[in-house]
Amino acid sequence: MSITANDPNRKTWLEVPANSDFPIQNIPFGVFLTRDDVITIGTRIGDTAIDLGALHQLGYFEGIPLTDDIFLQDTLNDFISDGKKTWRLVRNRIADIFDANNASLRDNEEHRKVVLFTLDEIEMQMPVQVGDYTDFYSSKEHATNVGTMFRDPDNALLPNWLHIPVGYHGRSSSIIPSGIPIHRPQGQTKAKDATEPTFGPSQRVDFELEMAFITTDANHLGEPIPIEEAEDYIFGLVLFNDWSARDIQTWEYVPLGPFLAKNFASSISPWIVTLDALEPFRTESPKPEKKLLPYLQYEGKKSFDINLEVFLKPENGEENKLVQSNFKYMYWNMSQQLAHHTVNGCPVISGDMMGSGTISGPTPDSYGSMLELAWKGEKPIKLKDGSERKFIEDNDTVIMRGYCEKGDYRIGFGEVSTKLLPVFEPKKK
Ligand code: MN
Repeated sequence: MSITANDPNRKTWLEVPANSDFPIQNIPFGVFLTRDDVITIGTRIGDTAIDLGALHQLGYFEGIPLTDDIFLQDTLNDFISDGKKTWRLVRNRIADIFDANNASLRDNEEHRKVVLFTLDEIEMQMPVQVGDYTDFYSSKEHATNVGTMFRDPDNALLPNWLHIPVGYHGRSSSIIPSGIPIHRPQGQTKAKDATEPTFGPSQRVDFELEMAFITTDANHLGEPIPIEEAEDYIFGLVLFNDWSARDIQTWEYVPLGPFLAKNFASSISPWIVTLDALEPFRTESPKPEKKLLPYLQYEGKKSFDINLEVFLKPENGEENKLVQSNFKYMYWNMSQQLAHHTVNGCPVISGDMMGSGTISGPTPDSYGSMLELAWKGEKPIKLKDGSERKFIEDNDTVIMRGYCEKGDYRIGFGEVSTKLLPVFEPKKK
């Protein structure tokens, strides 16, 4: 089935600001609370949010096999379970409904009133109920930088790294949408020269610039997903800020890896951009440096050219651009990650979220964490207001943005913005 929703020449009757991340060719999916306090599944064109539940009730999806309540839910999990063919039919239909030449909704004021919202009338929610969250470690530059800092510059990559998309299982309970502030975590740390650990606020709170993909029901227990089928099970992507506490991490991670340094919060952009919408932006992955085992070998372009940016905004201050990177720098692509994740028969279901791992590029301005940008505190970053940062300070806001661009064809993710509040204080009785 062709993806008519991606037609670059299509115009819409809705107003779309220049350089919008959400032209009619995007059609992402999300969940929002409406002005009437109703939760619904929706999409967005320009700065207009569209209630898909209302559109469905009004009959605009006639002919597409959907249950009556598929969009009247507080998560996208069931819709994602319907599979790629249904996602395509729905995206194609939405493109058709909002096509400049289609009068059916355009000229029906009654219908428009219940279907369309301005962005200040809605509040974005978590788009899916995340069953399981896995985080990979798939950027070679990031793994090399971290290995250089903490182990040995001559052997920065561990021996398995070029053979396995290394990953770990995270916590889904602390994944939050953009706009929800978090508190500085406390925990156990040990200074280099100290003999005993101490307890207190983390002094090294960091962001990790990542993207995450969301899967559909992919396999049963025991059944691996072949790499050439992996993309059939990927619904779409979001921007992903995998908050980290470096001092807690340094002390706790041996021998079982990330734990409390990683699971206090991860924030996502609320609109899931479908893999279908990203189709025009496919690109080559970096060439494998070691011969891969057959289950990780692939053909064709499996990476995507997505510009990624990170900004830091101090309390009452201006945004400072810290990072300019790209998703295409990932050494291991999503197909390899999913094939590897399931090669032992581990089941993956609708709403599972797979983080890419920190995305660092080849140049210092493309490093995806403060740890690397300020090189573990040795090279503080100077901000416009004259202050310096080694890590994230209380009341700083970290904003990540991402977009694909080809001439004037732009598909974007919007942003994930999260403020770091001081340590949580229990209310006094
Ligand atoms: Mn991470």
